[in-house]
Amino acid sequence: MDRIFAPWRIEWVERDDEEGVDGCPFCVLPERENDRENRVVARSEHSLVLLNNYPYNPGHAMVIPKRHATEYPDLTDDELLDHGRLKQRTLRALDEAMGPDGFNTGLNLGGAAAGGSVDHLHTHVVPRWTGDTSFMPVVGDTKVIVEELERTYSHLHDAFADLDGATVPEDEQAAVRFD
Ligand SMILES: [Zn+2]
Repeated sequence: MDRIFAPWRIEWVERDDEEGVDGCPFCVLPERENDRENRVVARSEHSLVLLNNYPYNPGHAMVIPKRHATEYPDLTDDELLDHGRLKQRTLRALDEAMGPDGFNTGLNLGGAAAGGSVDHLHTHVVPRWTGDTSFMPVVGDTKVIVEELERTYSHLHDAFADLDGATVPEDEQAAVRFD
């Protein structure tokens, strides 16, 4: 069976076991106290990296502008550079943490492409392994996904911490910083 691989069609979905998010999750979650609980793994001046809580593959991350931007052309030069740099670091950290064979990365822009998902701009970064297309059915269970996310978060946090320019806060629950 031929299938088109389009992980950006699988959007951020709030799980039942999570505290309700009032408003835009990509604005609300980074404001909360505990980065680890909220899956924020790295932060830079204008951007952050959030693990997708409904991953297509292990390590499925999103690079997100801190500002609630909905249109890519509206990002300022500073935001674009910062977004691009953090995407580079995300690719490096995922490479180091998980050793994938490749990546898919992409944006959903506009109602038709985004399918009614969160309109806060986000770039998906999805690690790929040869023959990995059956991952979703395997981890279709919420408990497995939560354990998987906790393990992935720790590995990825360590890998970000090893990159040039990283600052690791004393608080172990806090994201790695690139300021
Ligand atoms: Zn937002």
